[in-house]
Order: sequence, then structure tokens, then C-alpha cells
Amino acid sequence: SPEIELLTTFARLAAETIERAQLRERLAGEARTDALTGLYNRREFDARLTEEYRRARRYVKPFALMMIDLDRFKQVNDDYGHAAGDAALKTLAGILKKQFRDVETIARYGGEEFVAILPEISGGAAKQVAERVCHAVAATPFRLLDGVEVGVTVSIGVSCYPNCAGSPQEAMDRADQALYIAKEAGRNRVVLYREMLKARIEQDPGCI
Ligand code: GH3
Ligand code: MG
Ligand code: MG
Repeated sequence: SPEIELLTTFARLAAETIERAQLRERLAGEARTDALTGLYNRREFDARLTEEYRRARRYVKPFALMMIDLDRFKQVNDDYGHAAGDAALKTLAGILKKQFRDVETIARYGGEEFVAILPEISGGAAKQVAERVCHAVAATPFRLLDGVEVGVTVSIGVSCYPNCAGSPQEAMDRADQALYIAKEAGRNRVVLYREMLKARIEQDPGCI
């Protein structure tokens, strides 16, 4: 009957509209995430950092930034191959997803470098979170290939707005400097930029 035909046409149009909306949503999600790990990508992270900075400045709230880098990861690739390295990155991403809360943004910033934004938290509290992440990674066996399990560690640099960084760029630079010191000090550890600076000034008062 004509009624049935009309209803069938409507149903088909509705289904197509839903499919298009789903496709749009999927493409938007893919543009914001990293294909290997499913974490946010660098572009999305940069946008969120700018947004968090604006909010923090406006409402006079702090935020912390964490830079997380795998330790001696080149060696993992050299010993077990690139595919095994990729498996390690996925495992790490899984640990990070569990360790961070929904309000915290965790992203894959570069090859083996991850970053997190923690809203409304002081440097000291962020350091505690970073310590917990560091321990969780070290305590997890990484299954790289069939029958190959290795221990993997990360080093973490932490900076915070507004106490030790006045802008997103400064927060990034200082988390990176803290990370560098964590590597130098032996890896598998957390360094808070503020504490690093304090120690440096105590050691050499003329350095600033
Ligand atoms: P460090 O403890 O100082 O960070 O040592 P490292 O070996 O991790 O650091 P380095 O910067 O020398 O090397 C990083 C290595 O990470 C280089 C590359 O082999 C590996 N890498 C980066 N991106 C990827 C990736 O997407 N997949 C795999 N499998 N390896 C990657
Ligand atoms: Mg690196
Ligand atoms: Mg590394």
C-alpha cells in the first residue's frame, strides 16, 4: 500500500541520517585520538591545555602538567623489534587510562612520550599521582611477544600552574626539564620542577 511505501521510505531516510551522524562522530573521534593507543593525540592535547590554562587563570585555580617518557625504550626496540615496542606502548596506554581520572587529559604527545593535564591540583598532590603511576608501570609485567615478558619503567617530570609556570608553554618546558633531571638521576622516578629548582638554588645560590 502507499502508506507502507511511505513509511518504508521514512525509515530508510532515518537510518541513513543516523549512519551519517555516526560516521561524522567516528571521524571526529579519530581526528582527536592516536591510532595505536587510543589516547588523545598531540593536537587535542594542545587544545585542551590552552583551554585548561584559560579556565585556571579565570577562576584562579591551579593545574599540573605531567610529562611521561619510557625509560631506555630504544633498547626494547633493538632487543625485541618495533612490533614489540608498539605492544609496549599499548600496554603503557592501558595502565595510564586506568591511573587517570575522567577529568584528567592523558595524551600520546610523541613516539614514546605521554602527557597529562591534572585540573585543580597543586604540584605536591600531582607528584603523588605521578609516583603512583610510576609504581604501577614498574609493577606491571609487559608482555611483548609470545612468551616474552619484560619489566618497563617510566620517568615523569611534573610542573604546575601558577606556582612554577605562568603559561602553557612554560608548563611544558618545565615539565620537560624536570623529566630530563629524572632521567639523569637514574630513571624510574618522578621529579617536580619546583623541588628541582629549590635543590639547585640551595646547591648554588648564584645560579639564578
Ligand atoms: P631514555 O630513557 O633516555 O628515554 O632512553 P630512550 O631509549 O627511551 O630514549 P631515546 O629518545 O633515545 O629513544 C626513544 C626511542 O623510542 C626511539 C625509538 O626507537 C622509540 N620509539 C619512538 N616512537 C616509537 C613508536 O611509535 N613505536 C616503537 N616501537 N618505538 C618507538
Ligand atoms: Mg623520549
Ligand atoms: Mg625514552
